[in-house]
Amino acid sequence: MPELPEVETIAAGLSPLVCGRTIRDIHLVYPRAVRGDDQEFQRRLQGRGISAVRRRAKLLILDLDGPLHLVFHLKMTGKVWVPQKGVQPGKHTHLILDLGDEVYVFFDDQRRFGYVTALTPLELESWDFYRNLGPEPLQATLQEFTGIIQGRKARIKSLLMDQKVIAGIGNIYADEALYMAGIHPCTRAVDLSVDQLSSLHHNLQQVLREAILAGGSSFRDYRNALGVAGLFQENFKVYGKKGLPCPECSTNLGSIRVSGRSSCFCPRCQAEKSKS
Ligand SMILES: [Zn+2]
Repeated sequence: MPELPEVETIAAGLSPLVCGRTIRDIHLVYPRAVRGDDQEFQRRLQGRGISAVRRRAKLLILDLDGPLHLVFHLKMTGKVWVPQKGVQPGKHTHLILDLGDEVYVFFDDQRRFGYVTALTPLELESWDFYRNLGPEPLQATLQEFTGIIQGRKARIKSLLMDQKVIAGIGNIYADEALYMAGIHPCTRAVDLSVDQLSSLHHNLQQVLREAILAGGSSFRDYRNALGVAGLFQENFKVYGKKGLPCPECSTNLGSIRVSGRSSCFCPRCQAEKSKS
């Protein structure tokens, strides 16, 4: 699933290709990709100019004149991209926005868990999912981060992936940040020391920044706005590497279920320790 760095990469790639353009026509191939009324969705988009492309949590948001917000949740395999001229839509292309001059935006989604919706600013702000999103991890200061994590009884991995606690992080970057901070994924937040919280905050921001610089990762089906794969998966230290040696200590990496997701970790570098 695309996480913060992947969606950030898509937004950055899409922005120069679509900003200043106008949605001339809408081809909704798979109406169920729309959250809400699909007729109203198409009516709302017709003729709107695109003023900005941004990310909030794992959501990709195109700000349209009006104002109106075109919001994509990519979920498992959703892709929003601008194909090169002449490229035809595929069998998983659910939505095509015609921006004129043979420029199109495709929304593809093989697994069909993703969706798109068009909301007014008031609708966006009153949408429960959006309203309840936690702070952005790259903007949260150590003090803010500590404030939202410290003292909670839940396991730290669960908290990092909880979009209401902190936004944009999923299995990949939670595993990587916990490894870099030397914290076992099952550690209860309340048992983390001040130093561990500080290290986690630092490493979380670092891995997210590095991943953005690398254009995100290309696990599963992720592609950037031009349909190009990111490179950060080559830098994964533990994610998806169960049974392989730890890059630090060569102990075989283990895997454990946390909140229904498998978590890769090093049993030695991330040994569970009591608060000191
Ligand atoms: Zn290790």
